[in-house]
Amino acid sequence: DLWEAKGAVRFDGVEFAYKKDRVILPEFDLDIPSGQTIALVGSTGAGKSTLAKLVSRFYDPSQGAVTLDGIDLRQLHPKDLRRAIVMVTQEAYLFSGTVAENIALGNPDASREEIVAAAKAVGAHEFIESLPGGYDTDVNKRGGRVSAGQRQLLSFARAFLADPVVLILDEATASLDIPSERLVQEGLTTLLADRTAIIIAHRLSTVAIADRVLVMEHGIIVEDGTPRDL
Ligand code: ATP
Ligand code: MG
Repeated sequence: DLWEAKGAVRFDGVEFAYKKDRVILPEFDLDIPSGQTIALVGSTGAGKSTLAKLVSRFYDPSQGAVTLDGIDLRQLHPKDLRRAIVMVTQEAYLFSGTVAENIALGNPDASREEIVAAAKAVGAHEFIESLPGGYDTDVNKRGGRVSAGQRQLLSFARAFLADPVVLILDEATASLDIPSERLVQEGLTTLLADRTAIIIAHRLSTVAIADRVLVMEHGIIVEDGTPRDL
């Protein structure tokens, strides 16, 4: 049977350094209850992406542990880990292939109906239908045919289809026009429902929809509160 994670994430005395003499996270503790949306902010080099990478097990801590529902990530079966925790990166990579293939990336068994349902859920269906070949349109390697906002919607559709219990999102910095920003915001809100999320947030509108905002400086959480508090 498949293991069903609830999505509680904890950092327990985590220490991490890329290089021996330079600790990025010193004795880091953080408790993220299942279902909570965290907006992570802080200046460049603060350690936000590093934290995100520890949750997705790009790296392991040198001290302490990152846990999912109390289980050390190192003890999880890689298959369970990949199913439970998905990271969406800034660039929202598109690969050569069709729009449908790009949404189904990581879920090769998904049916067309499931792909369309995911696109509809995050508000990507309309623009996809307006492409010359709809879901069968070839996206070139650099994603040149779709705008930055559309690329984000496609990455949301991909994540929605993957349906992880924990979503990590390194938000794209590209500025969007107001209609696109609104669409992306709506798509994101749908994507966040019923899962734990850690968003490295660049948009004020994203911070506003978080349950909790963490301000990070030099590997330390310097503020922890609701968007209203900050
Ligand atoms: P930004 O807002 O610019 O994305 P960030 O908060 O995500 O910054 P990190 O990328 O986590 O910051 O970087 C934290 C520190 O770790 C920085 O000092 C950075 O130079 C260093 N660092 C990041 N990646 C590596 C790496 N692969 N090897 C060595 N040092 C790294
Ligand atoms: Mg970063």
